[in-house]
Amino acid sequence: MAFVTRFAPSPTGPLHLGHAFSAILAHDMARAECGRFLLRMEDTDLDRCRPEWDALIQEDLRWLGLSWDGPILRQSTRIEDYNIRLEALADTGLLYPCSCTRADIRAALAAPQEGVAFAVYPGTCRGRPMSDRRPGDALRLNLAAALDRLSGADLAFTETGPAHAGRHRIDPGRALAEIGDVVLARKGEGVVAYFLASAFDDADQGITHVIRGEDLFDFTPVQVILQHLFGLPTPIYHHHRLIRDEQGKRLAKRDDARAILKYRAEGATPADIRRMVGL
Ligand code: GLU
Repeated sequence: MAFVTRFAPSPTGPLHLGHAFSAILAHDMARAECGRFLLRMEDTDLDRCRPEWDALIQEDLRWLGLSWDGPILRQSTRIEDYNIRLEALADTGLLYPCSCTRADIRAALAAPQEGVAFAVYPGTCRGRPMSDRRPGDALRLNLAAALDRLSGADLAFTETGPAHAGRHRIDPGRALAEIGDVVLARKGEGVVAYFLASAFDDADQGITHVIRGEDLFDFTPVQVILQHLFGLPTPIYHHHRLIRDEQGKRLAKRDDARAILKYRAEGATPADIRRMVGL
């Protein structure tokens, strides 16, 4: 079986040890399988993404000894294409416009929701038709209607990462309780949600294996549902452990102290970085 994977950073800051681990792992797995390793910039957040970070990420990856196959795919060049596909889904009656603010949603929820990746939307705008869409509205998926349309589909994915290895079936009742009517196009700027853009790109780039951090495991069921709605294949998933600081907190972009650039300036070698992340 062909093996095609990718590293998909958002160029909103320098690469840190956590990204380096993810990139090295995906790269090494692809090379071990004689497969392909692709690079994708998830740069739809035009306020936070910068060309300087994009360039630095490439420089850091090269310094780490990683090479990618083919041209870099930048999501910012594909926004129109994403929107055309989303409009086609809207035409089938599965989306509705939503003007709720976070505060509206909090107020409508009786109790805070624990242990769910998304704040499950209470459905305030669900009855609104698309013809009622106003500038600035978000677009939400009517999940109950979507699951109804997919009844009989094999909603499942295979996970090979250490924490959740096995075949995972998506239970519609649980999806309704834990995912709900997710936003597929954000308010205002009309940009599709990152987990949808990512699902389109994985399919268009022919990704067979998604290798990414454990923090994204909870997004997988919604991506699988979207793959079925848009007629896209479901890749195999591998969610890896996260690199944490001494306090056990996972690294974020603001952890400049762990930026690869800084280790480079201090004279570390790529082999030192591999050791630091336990490879
Ligand atoms: N862009 C996401 C991130 O930087 C990764 C998304 C993915 O790998 O599916 O966390």
